[in-house]
Amino acid sequence: RAKSAGGNRFELADAEADARAITRHGLTTALPTALERGEFFIEYQPLVHLGDGSVRGAEALVRWLHPQHGVLGPDRFIPLAEHTGLIVPLGRWVLEQSVRQAREWRELQGGVEAAGPLRINVNLSPCQLTHPGLVQDTVDILERTGVAPDALCLEVTESALIGADDDLLKPLRRLAEMGVDIALDDFGTGYSNLANLRRLPVSILKLDRSFTQSMQQFPADPVDLKIVEGIVSLAHSLDLAVTVEGVETGAQAEQLRILGCDTAQGWYYARPGPPERLHQLALVDATG
Ligand code: C2E
Ligand code: MG
Ligand code: MG
Ligand code: MG
Repeated sequence: RAKSAGGNRFELADAEADARAITRHGLTTALPTALERGEFFIEYQPLVHLGDGSVRGAEALVRWLHPQHGVLGPDRFIPLAEHTGLIVPLGRWVLEQSVRQAREWRELQGGVEAAGPLRINVNLSPCQLTHPGLVQDTVDILERTGVAPDALCLEVTESALIGADDDLLKPLRRLAEMGVDIALDDFGTGYSNLANLRRLPVSILKLDRSFTQSMQQFPADPVDLKIVEGIVSLAHSLDLAVTVEGVETGAQAEQLRILGCDTAQGWYYARPGPPERLHQLALVDATG
């Protein structure tokens, strides 16, 4: 009996694995047409200054409105798009849409700018970094939209840059020289040598959500506090700004502000949402 029950369990596990593989295969083959059919859309999540609470910009987060499966998050399809190379045209599309959106916000702001014109953060996958068209595509998009390079921040994960040689860093250096900000995303999850930060053309550290989560308990773990304090002071001494991800409570925000973090992002302020929402938040913020 036990044996047959175990056997059934394995069959169930196999069936689930099969179903997942089928879905994965189906999603992979549907990706190129999804881009042509306009099934992708972007949500924007505000980036808030911890000192004064003002909205400074937003991170663009891509979603797929799949005709059968509904809205799929990036974790479901970005790895597939990276595997098939579709990430290059998809990433270019996200970049162009997001930069256009930033221009629209700036036009709507029309001078009502408590904290300066809104900026836009866009995620880059490692495949885009190694694609030879990255710099030219970015320059073209900024020119076509008439948006200044300093309105744009490109987020690259720490793990994508671990052990990066000069060839990989060259395009990022070019972009940084033009005035585009480069942020090191999910910082603290990889094993990069802190001294290594000096050779990367980054101007912003995005501290991973795991640090923010450890600020949830009260009192927070003193060792975690020390670690964040140390990272922030090192970052600032290297002229890097520190953004924190995943802020879900006011207590976390307050703790991270006291620790010297500059900017925050998370559900406490707003979930990712449509572009109008970001504009409303920024405007309320500017006009009081
Ligand atoms: P990420 O760049 O680290 O983005 C932050 C993720 O944390 C987002 O998940 C966001 O919705 C989520 N988040 C924000 N605030 C909170 C919070 O307070 N609590 C919690 N629990 N989560 C929060 P999302 O949208 O599912 O994106 C996941 C990842 O997918 C992103 O992580 C990014 O690496 C990748 N991604 C998203 N859009 C793009 C894109 O256009 N291109 C590329 N290459 N990757 C993208
Ligand atoms: Mg990001
Ligand atoms: Mg992140
Ligand atoms: Mg993250």
